[in-house]
Amino acid sequence: MLLLTPGPTPIPERVQKALLRPMRGHLDPEVLAVNRAIQARLGALFDPGEGALLAALAGSGSLGMEAGLANLDRGPVLVPVNGAFSQRVAKMAALYGLEPTVLEFSPEEAVDPEAVEKELRRRRYRMVALVHGETSTGVLNPAEAVGALAKEAGALFFLDAVTTLGMLPFSMRRMGVDYAFTGSQKCLSAPPGLAPIALSREGRRAFTGRRGWYLDLARVAEHWEGGGYHHTTPVLLHYALLEALDLALEEGIEARERRARETHAWLLEELLARGFRPYPKGSFLPTVLVVRPPEGVEADRLVKALYREGVAVAGGIGPTQGRVLRLGLMGEEARKEPYRVFLQALDRVLALA
Ligand SMILES: *Cc1c(COP(=O)(O)O)cnc(C)c1O
Repeated sequence: MLLLTPGPTPIPERVQKALLRPMRGHLDPEVLAVNRAIQARLGALFDPGEGALLAALAGSGSLGMEAGLANLDRGPVLVPVNGAFSQRVAKMAALYGLEPTVLEFSPEEAVDPEAVEKELRRRRYRMVALVHGETSTGVLNPAEAVGALAKEAGALFFLDAVTTLGMLPFSMRRMGVDYAFTGSQKCLSAPPGLAPIALSREGRRAFTGRRGWYLDLARVAEHWEGGGYHHTTPVLLHYALLEALDLALEEGIEARERRARETHAWLLEELLARGFRPYPKGSFLPTVLVVRPPEGVEADRLVKALYREGVAVAGGIGPTQGRVLRLGLMGEEARKEPYRVFLQALDRVLALA
């Protein structure tokens, strides 16, 4: 099966091999050294500034999202929404009693910083929570502009970096981010099961909500910074994540961004020639291409037909449910070779449609 979904992504052999290493304890000094190496690599990718907490939570990207809300001491939180994942942020913020205000935008367009600015003038917010790349729609949101506005308003800035970190230029310092997270199975092409997070020094002062135990970041820090026991960490996944982080940094973010952008542009052109249309009106996210199928072709049937041809892609979710194909260009997926195979399968399927 050729895996081309917007997460999980195929994992390179070096990462796969790390999973075969013998088991060690989660407090074994060698494992703690691996954790420190993971933190150093995450520091290079997140660039969170001095005094930040860096860790990989034992769970998927959604755990990273939840931890960023469960630990906030109080609301209100402003959530610009233009897709399924920003909707999820708003839902979680409500569950944690953070009084979210949803600022709604068209799912086909990026969040408009002017509207965010207006709302920040109207009311005082404790935090602004933005999704950098909306995987449900293929739209890239203006994180740097929104971050600057949040800082200006004296609010913390929470950023879902699931489809950007490791593939696109990223710096919490430059973007004014206090809390950011991703999932290991997206742009890093590691197995699912870890949520890398970074919490700025300022964020650490505000994250004293202490709701829950497992995702209490002060307790997580006791393990990741002090080497003490909090919970039994998935050691083999740590080995694999470290390999994936090394691969990303060895290649370099500039080269990875180029790879994603070039594959995105080429693939979009190939699909336009076959009668597909892009879902977003602009502000394309280079790591997820979302397209509407040609007239008369049903998106979800196309997904199933491609699966029968040995190619796994995703259909729509949230606002794009049943209306689009979503093609992953994260990590290992951002290459022409697998997408040439996809296009061959697509042509076979479309000839029959
Ligand atoms: C995939 C994804 C998540 C959730 O991650 P899981 O690993 O599925 O829990 C959150 N935000 C965005 C933007 C995503 O693409």
